[in-house]
Amino acid sequence: MRNKSVITEAEEIGLATELVKLGARLQLLETETQLSRERLLKLYKEIRGESPPKGMLPFSADWFVTWQPNIHASLFIDILDYLTENTKLKGIRAIIKAYKLYLENARVSDLEPILSVTRAWTLVRFIDGGLLRTTACTRCGGDFVVHAHDLYDHYVCGLCRPPSRAGKGGRPEAARVATEALAIVG
Ligand SMILES: [Zn+2]
Repeated sequence: MRNKSVITEAEEIGLATELVKLGARLQLLETETQLSRERLLKLYKEIRGESPPKGMLPFSADWFVTWQPNIHASLFIDILDYLTENTKLKGIRAIIKAYKLYLENARVSDLEPILSVTRAWTLVRFIDGGLLRTTACTRCGGDFVVHAHDLYDHYVCGLCRPPSRAGKGGRPEAARVATEALAIVG
């Protein structure tokens, strides 16, 4: 934190605090703030009352294209795209806002928010890194997360074609997510 203004430092601490409260892992905090690892560890312990989990993030791009995670991931990206196109929010600030809207959406829809903030952040990095992208469903027209290098001539999303293992509750639940997503994204 040498040569940094007090205001900048306060802003970084505020940002890190908000991220820790949302459940962010240490790697996210280290990437998105200029605070030292030592300070972040201290902050994390103070807020959550325990040390952050050790080790690298285990997330792979495949998780985001499996059925239920894909619906949550696509919902989050839809919200994020809307925010970046219609507000001045950028980068991690846009991700935080989009994630809060995603959580709110899950709460009112009585859904378990299976996309953690760290996963949401990782998803954005995978898209920026060219590993994943979005493509439009040929039936509902919604945008969904897919592998960047696969070809989808007639892509049909997980809402329009849920797998049989999703069971009876799968489709109405998924449809509700979609409805709520549209309500937010407008
Ligand atoms: Zn669809």
